[in-house]
Amino acid sequence: MAVYNVPALAKLIDKFESLPGIGSKTAQRLAYHVLNMSKEQAYDFASAVTDAHDKIKYCAICCNFSDEELCPVCRDKQRDKTVICVVESPRDAIAMESTREFEGTYHVLHGAISPLNNIGPDELYIKELLARLNDGTVTEVIMATNPTVEGDATAMYISRLLKPLGIKTTRLAYGIPVGGDLEYTDEVTLSRALEGRSEL
Ligand SMILES: [Zn+2]
Repeated sequence: MAVYNVPALAKLIDKFESLPGIGSKTAQRLAYHVLNMSKEQAYDFASAVTDAHDKIKYCAICCNFSDEELCPVCRDKQRDKTVICVVESPRDAIAMESTREFEGTYHVLHGAISPLNNIGPDELYIKELLARLNDGTVTEVIMATNPTVEGDATAMYISRLLKPLGIKTTRLAYGIPVGGDLEYTDEVTLSRALEGRSEL
């Protein structure tokens, strides 16, 4: 008996299944959904993926995602440029924004120091952070890396670099569960963690 196999469909299912949090059943459902789209919808869907890749780059100041030279936060004259909140990922910056309590700017490291995964300080956007501290505008750096072993190690590493510069370095207070992820922390807990930050 011949095996029922449509290579283009199998490939589509495979692509969906490679996404985080998508199992094989969901991948199949999504692939069939795409097949049921009109040709126009399908092309629109595909170009959203390629457009995002082509147009989105890192902000020249904070390294967050942006489709312009500077991201909306760095462009905004109302934001307090004396405070930088350092986060591991763009999603963490979004989580901080959702508290509506933070008026400063961000710096996205794109990861955390993790010797087990061969991620050292040079793999992160730390140089770019240091470059922002040269002109004396910044007076406080808030380390808002995740409360994990890697996040703590990263916060300590950066705070040691900043000590000689005389810039106040603080760490978010722990209301955030240890081992937890900023992205999945509710706004209230995150606001309190920001208010209760302590000096490193
Ligand atoms: Zn920016």
